[in-house]
Amino acid sequence: MDIGLIGRKLGHSLSPEIHKYLGSYEYTLRPMEPEELDRFFAERDFRGVNVTIPYKKDAAERCDELSETARRIGCVNTVIKRPDGSLWGDNTDYFGFSYMADLAGIDFKNQKTLILGSGGASLTARLVAADKGASEVIVISRTGENNYGNLDRHSDAGIIVNCTPVGMYPENGKRIVDLSAFPRLRGVLDMIYNPFRTPLILDAQAGNIRCSDGLPMLVAQGAKSAEYFRVNENLKPDIPAICRAVRAEKLNIVLVGMPGCGKSTVASVLAKDLGREKLDTDDMVRARAGKPIPAIFAEEGEAAFRDLEAACVYEAARGSGRVIATGGGAVLRRENREALRGNSAVVFLERPVNELSTGGRPLSKDAETLERMYAERLPLYRETADITVRVGATPYITAAEIKERLKRYNEAAYNQRT
Ligand code: NAP
Repeated sequence: MDIGLIGRKLGHSLSPEIHKYLGSYEYTLRPMEPEELDRFFAERDFRGVNVTIPYKKDAAERCDELSETARRIGCVNTVIKRPDGSLWGDNTDYFGFSYMADLAGIDFKNQKTLILGSGGASLTARLVAADKGASEVIVISRTGENNYGNLDRHSDAGIIVNCTPVGMYPENGKRIVDLSAFPRLRGVLDMIYNPFRTPLILDAQAGNIRCSDGLPMLVAQGAKSAEYFRVNENLKPDIPAICRAVRAEKLNIVLVGMPGCGKSTVASVLAKDLGREKLDTDDMVRARAGKPIPAIFAEEGEAAFRDLEAACVYEAARGSGRVIATGGGAVLRRENREALRGNSAVVFLERPVNELSTGGRPLSKDAETLERMYAERLPLYRETADITVRVGATPYITAAEIKERLKRYNEAAYNQRT
C-alpha cells in the first residue's frame, strides 16, 4: 500500500470517496487486527497512512516524531514516512474539527462547552475548544464525575459537542441528551456523519440553534492529510463543495404524501434515472406480514399495521443513497418522522385531494374521509419535508422537478455561516 487507511473495521469508510477529490494517488483501505500493527509499522511499506479506531494511540507510539498537535492530543490520524525512512505523525482531526466549527459559525470564545464522551475524538475537541477561547470545557463521561445523571449542573452550557457514537449507524435514532435542558445553548457540533441528522442535530435545527454534522470535519481532516500525501500537485480542495457532493450521493430521497398521490411511481422513475435502489415501505410491510395491507387492517387493526410500518420505515431510512416511497400515514408517528429525516432529503409530493387515486387503500374510503385525513396530515408532511413538489402531469415531469429542487437543496448546504 502506498497511501490509505488502517483501522479495525473499515467497511463503511467514506475516505476513499473523499480522497478522490483530494489528489491523484490511489487510496487503499487496509483493515487490520491488533497483532498485525507491529509488523505493519516495522516494514513501513507505505508513503502515508491515515489511522482510525482503535489504533490512533498505538500509531503515535510507533512514530519517530510527532507534530506539536499530535503530541498535545496524544494520538495521530496521519503517519508519513519521510525520505530517511523515519515516521512522522500528525493529528489532522484538530484542523478538521476546528474547520467544522468555523464553517457552522460556532465560536467557542467565552462559551462554556460540554464535550460528550471521553475517547480519542473528545481529546481533540477539548483542545480545539480551549484553544479557541472556551470559558470552561467540561467532559461528560458515563463513568466520570460529570455524567449524564447530573447534567443539570451544566445547564448554562453554550456549546455541546457530541464525541460519542450515540445515534450513529446502525443504531440510528438514539438521543444522547435533551437539548431543552440547556436554555443558553447556541451551538451543537456532532462528529457523526452517518446519519447526517442525528436526533441531536434534528433537535438543534428545530430549536434554531447553529449546528453541524461531522462531514465537514471528516473532509477537512482528509484535506489536511492530503497535503502530506500529494506529490507534485498543486490542488486547493474546495471542502464545502466536496461535502455537498458526498452528501448528495449518500442522502436517501424520501417521498411523503397522501395515499394515491403517486409516490411509488415517481420513486421508481427517480430510482431508475439516478441508478439507485428503490424501496417502498408499503411493499416492505406486505412482505413482512405476508398479506395485503387491507387484510392487515381487517385482521389485526390499524395499530398493528402502524407498528409494522414503523419497523419498515426505520429499516429503509437508515440506509444510504436510496429512493424511498412511504405509505401515506408514515408521518403520523414522531419516531417515523425522525427516522425519515435522519439520513434523507424528504420530499412532500403535494396533490389536490380530488386527484388522489383511492383503489385498494383502506383509509381512503370517501371524499369526506380523505379531506379530513388531508387536513390532519398536511402539517405533518410539511414538518417532515425539506422540499415540497406539486405533482406534475406525468411521473417523469414530477421526477425532473424533484431532481431540480434537490440540486438547489444540496447547494444550500455547508455554506459558511458568519
Ligand atoms: P472512541 O474512542 O470509541 O470514544 C467514544 C466515547 O464515547 C467513549 O470513550 C465513551 O466515553 C463514549 N461512549 C461510547 N459508547 C457510549 C454510549 N453508548 N453512551 C454514551 N457514551 C458512549 O471513539 P472516538 O474516536 O472518540 O469517536 C467518537 C465518535 O466521533 C464516533 O462516532 C466517530 O465516528 C466520530 N468521529 C468523527 C470524526 C469525523 O471526522 N467526523 C472523527 C473522529 C471521530 P465514556 O465512556 O467516557 O462515556
